[in-house]
Amino acid sequence: MGHRPAAVIEALQAQLARGWTFGAPTEAEVRLASLVSDRMPAIEMLRLVNSGTEAAMSAVRLARAFTGRRKLIKFAGAYHGHADALLVEAGSGVATLGIPGTPGITPAAAQDTVVARYNNLSDVESAMARWPRQVAAVIVEPVAGNMGVVPPLAGFLAGLREMTRDSESLLIFDEVITGFRVARGGAQELYGVTPDLTCLGKVLGGGLPIGGYGGRREIMEQVAPAGPVYQAGTLSGNPLAVAAGLATLDALDDSIYRQLESVGARVAAELASAAAAAGVPLTVNRVGSMLTAFFAAGAITEYATAKQSDTAQFAAWFRSLLARGVSIPPSQFEAAFLSTAHDDDAITFLHSKLEESFTSLLASTTT
Ligand SMILES: *Cc1c(COP(=O)(O)O)cnc(C)c1O
Repeated sequence: MGHRPAAVIEALQAQLARGWTFGAPTEAEVRLASLVSDRMPAIEMLRLVNSGTEAAMSAVRLARAFTGRRKLIKFAGAYHGHADALLVEAGSGVATLGIPGTPGITPAAAQDTVVARYNNLSDVESAMARWPRQVAAVIVEPVAGNMGVVPPLAGFLAGLREMTRDSESLLIFDEVITGFRVARGGAQELYGVTPDLTCLGKVLGGGLPIGGYGGRREIMEQVAPAGPVYQAGTLSGNPLAVAAGLATLDALDDSIYRQLESVGARVAAELASAAAAAGVPLTVNRVGSMLTAFFAAGAITEYATAKQSDTAQFAAWFRSLLARGVSIPPSQFEAAFLSTAHDDDAITFLHSKLEESFTSLLASTTT
């Protein structure tokens, strides 16, 4: 909705006048939870936290407690926030044992994390076979956004659903990006696959710090104080973040998703035609209003193929666009997000700069 939508400013000002920290849950949290549950019926109960990191970390703890198992399967190139167990090096290969991906994480914190390749069900099958009845959960970005945008191949999410059901593991959708962005009910609505637990963030707080995790009642009832799995936060469900989130979700009606799809399609087409005109190999991956232009020629379906992109050329393109007044994410491995603030004028402006930005790359590589 852009950087300062009027509805969110108004909601924040009204909340400021009423106070912003009470050290107790508020009625507005309950309203936000019911809006979420209405859009994502798989979320029967929701706990608000302060970030996507906290949401994913807490969902994993809950899955381990609920199943009484330790192993966690994640996908190479997926990002689920910076909790230790989830910051495991995105090493390729079948079900590699976790290696900490950054200094400061002990082998013990990472050893129960198993890495599989995105869009590769046989990796997950092998991991399940190697650790029978030990996998607590599979955590997945239903549309990968943190290796650049990589959509799920047909049957991938449904296959994960089936395998986790068969092995009595939980399926966790990390919808911190996709929730309320790719559809009214997120990726779970778009692809028709129902997870056990869902992680939310980003859109949920309308630009203020928030996160949330929720799912089936019998699982969520394990969270304290109803159940024994401890998780708490002084500022969780903060009234300002909740007010911004409510105003945002209230504004996101069907017409907005049609508008986001159309602006996404237009920008993807502009990128493809400008790159083709300049003779630059480019692969544009897009789901609705999230997209990535990879400097690579072939299909990008997982982290290994994403990493074959020419990142030096991406960096040069980023600088070239920035110098022309267009700000895109500064990494090949991030998603660009379009909003309702990207109107006809914005697209026309982009159009006027794009071809030049690609031809300038060719000029700089030939000199
Ligand atoms: C951003 C992100 C997170 C982490 O959220 P923070 O609010 O930055 O802690 C987790 N998962 C996904 C898929 C994300 O994109």
